[in-house]
Amino acid sequence: MNKELRQAIIAGNWKMNKTRPEAKALIEELKPIAANASCGVVICVPYTNLETAVELTKGTNIKVGAENVHFEKSGAFTGEISADMLTEIGVEYVIIGHSERRQYFGETDETVNKRTKAALAAGLKPIVCVGELLWERECDITEEVIARQIKLDLFDVSAEDVKKTVIAYEPVWAIGTGKTATAEQAQEVCAFIRATLAKLYGQDVADAVTIQYGGSMNPKNASELVAQPDVDGGLIGGASLKAADFGVLLDAASNG
Ligand code: PEP
Repeated sequence: MNKELRQAIIAGNWKMNKTRPEAKALIEELKPIAANASCGVVICVPYTNLETAVELTKGTNIKVGAENVHFEKSGAFTGEISADMLTEIGVEYVIIGHSERRQYFGETDETVNKRTKAALAAGLKPIVCVGELLWERECDITEEVIARQIKLDLFDVSAEDVKKTVIAYEPVWAIGTGKTATAEQAQEVCAFIRATLAKLYGQDVADAVTIQYGGSMNPKNASELVAQPDVDGGLIGGASLKAADFGVLLDAASNG
């Protein structure tokens, strides 16, 4: 077990939830709950809540992330936000290639790769999401799908930058569906991701990368998932919207 070589991180993905007053209330509730966590704590919030989240978490162990970023530095890209705009206000992480972006907003491995490189160049830590569809799992091509995503999403990213990148294994069939991968399934694919990274970048790099599981992780199933040798915390949707539930996940990852 090489878990001591990397940090377990629990990252909340709030998606399109929480007005500013609601965000303030949730962060205030979360601060004392998160204070004793020994794992990394990240909340990825809608753009409109980023400044509030950065302000309210100053001096705490909670880091703030965005849910997407554009790959160009500036220009005629109506509705988009650049990496520099995020770092300027104190954002440290950004989710890239979430399956909802791939499914509803035409995100491809090529744009995931461009966004990842832009984020790293600006000093952001990307949380790059990969995962198979249900029918891909049923066709027994999960490993091919994951290997392809890892290779394309990280194409031309240096070994040093890969170490700063978090990979979130999120089987698409488990996101927001209440269907969780078993601990065995999560471990199997996270170990495969690490082996793929080892082939591409060497074992020392692979051992240093935080690989999260995401997909209906909740207070009941978290301990078993994060105890797996290659699962370094989680990317959490629904359960990140309630401070008490998120706190249970932080405890699980702190002890995992
Ligand atoms: C997610 O949005 O990344 C996610 C894992 O959602 P949920 O925990 O709700 O399945």
